[in-house]
Amino acid sequence: MNQPLTKYIIEAKEAESMAKSKNLTLPQLLPSLVKPAQNLARSPISKFAVGVAGLVSDGRIFLGANVEFPGLPLHHTIHGEQFLITNLAANAAGEKLLYIAVSATPCGHCRQFFQELRGISETQIVITDQPEINPDYKPLSSILPNPFGPYDLLDERTPLILDKHNNQLSLKDDKLITQNGNSINLSTGYDESLKTDTFKTARGLQALSLSAGYEETLETEALKAARESHAPYSGCLSGVALMDCDGKVYRGSYMESAAYNPSMMPAQAALVAYMVAGGDGFEKIVAAVLVEKEAAVVRQEDTVRLFMKYVSPKCDLRVVHCN
Ligand SMILES: [Zn+2]
Repeated sequence: MNQPLTKYIIEAKEAESMAKSKNLTLPQLLPSLVKPAQNLARSPISKFAVGVAGLVSDGRIFLGANVEFPGLPLHHTIHGEQFLITNLAANAAGEKLLYIAVSATPCGHCRQFFQELRGISETQIVITDQPEINPDYKPLSSILPNPFGPYDLLDERTPLILDKHNNQLSLKDDKLITQNGNSINLSTGYDESLKTDTFKTARGLQALSLSAGYEETLETEALKAARESHAPYSGCLSGVALMDCDGKVYRGSYMESAAYNPSMMPAQAALVAYMVAGGDGFEKIVAAVLVEKEAAVVRQEDTVRLFMKYVSPKCDLRVVHCN
């Protein structure tokens, strides 16, 4: 009996040997990974686990699963396919998504969000809970004909989600940091009492207090995430970096949809990175930085603040502005 699969990325060599051992091709292997992907779902509200596996052009297989957040409005939910796309954006930039196997028929939101991937109409999809209706792969265009997509709004040279992004951004020299709604100036340093209160309750106090400069690390990673973000419709780039109580950092980039609502928020994307890296209890996240433009027409601050309040109430969130 194999060990239950608990990871979200399967390296090409391992995928190849899994397929070989079952005498299958890689596309034929994908449906067998949907159940393990479903086991990664965190769906306490719907109790409906969505699992999805995607094969990319370099031979790696990526998994995704849905994540729900009790206490928050439903639009904070991470759909399984959206998790997959976020996983791909962070770890497979420049590759192509060739095949998808998903447990249930994708909702309209996800069919739309898939449009942010270049050439997605030719990607082959199979829906594993409907073998009688969908026994085999078919092009994604067959489940979303005549799509509204990025190039209804953008120039065709604009990078899409899996294309390389290198947005020019830098932190503002006179950056203001807001902490629990109050503004403090970085040059005066952090409020030591807040820091102590936050981390006293965290398991990794010792680890964090030993890692000098963690504030800068978080800022640098959040800025990197903002530079990699996909916001061609609003231009409002943003990124979030999270730190767990062991001092490990996870970053997530904002990703917009041409239809706006299926967009992936940067804090959710960072949480995907946390889960992909093996993070489990969200309360282990103790510090976060959001980088965004101060006068952006689409601002993340209030949403990220609300989201983190429920995801990890003790998390110390700071907002750093860029231009
Ligand atoms: Zn969906």
